Amino acid sequence: MGFHSCKRLRTVPAPISSIHHPSLFYNPKFVRCSLRILLLSDIHANLEALEACLASAPPYDIVANLGDLVGYGASPNEVIERSRRLGKIFVRGNHDKAVTGQVKLDDFNPLAATSALWTRDQLTSEHRDWLHSLPHGPVALEGVPQAQLVHGSPADEDAYVVSIGDALVPLLAITTPLTFFGHTHLQGGFFANGGSADGFRPEYRTVGQAESISLHLKSNTRYMINPGSVGQPRDGDWRAAFALFDTETQIVHFHRTPYNLKSAQERILSAKLPPRLATRLAAGR
Ligand code: ZN
Repeated sequence: MGFHSCKRLRTVPAPISSIHHPSLFYNPKFVRCSLRILLLSDIHANLEALEACLASAPPYDIVANLGDLVGYGASPNEVIERSRRLGKIFVRGNHDKAVTGQVKLDDFNPLAATSALWTRDQLTSEHRDWLHSLPHGPVALEGVPQAQLVHGSPADEDAYVVSIGDALVPLLAITTPLTFFGHTHLQGGFFANGGSADGFRPEYRTVGQAESISLHLKSNTRYMINPGSVGQPRDGDWRAAFALFDTETQIVHFHRTPYNLKSAQERILSAKLPPRLATRLAAGR
């Protein structure tokens, strides 16, 4: 994704002094690439939640997927197929690794291990090979040098960044100012600047409607931002979560959207997966 493939080129008016130097009009310095990046993470084979996010997302140019496409939910092939049609930017998650045999299931809890084994049986060989080929993070975002993508943490793809205590070391160690991460299924993030460091969570007004909350990124500040989990939120809000980053305005828009919960639950139950995987979706836990 360089200037040539950028879908929204914005021509910035040339300085008055350049009027006498027409060649300056073509200087790439005066053309800014602005991208609206749809951030999806932890879809976990929940097709209904993925479709609802795509339907309620504002216009976007590219999609970045932060991993864990499968595991827990009952639509692994459908979610992989839909996700692959959205683009090529992916980071692998721990469930993606487990399902494709890249890690042992010893560290997985019984629910996660059961669904990983079930998913292994369901995947087409093509989807399994594709899932196996996903890269570990950090993954750079072409055309957006200030941002990178990880599943867990920049130094450890399997680490859970839940508290500011977890975030502080990576925030201070990384040179990339903006890291998008997933894995915890908690929408929000962490920041650090010269004087302070803290966490933040979007606070929504309703529990059942589509809503959005914006965060304007400040300069000289490092961020770790989690768009939340599309398919299995764990922050007490059952609605599917995602985010959109606009590189031009430097705003991250956090979103929640209701989805067809009943249909997702029925698929889990009729697949004979543990019923707890269906009930937890209603609680957002
Ligand atoms: Zn996950």
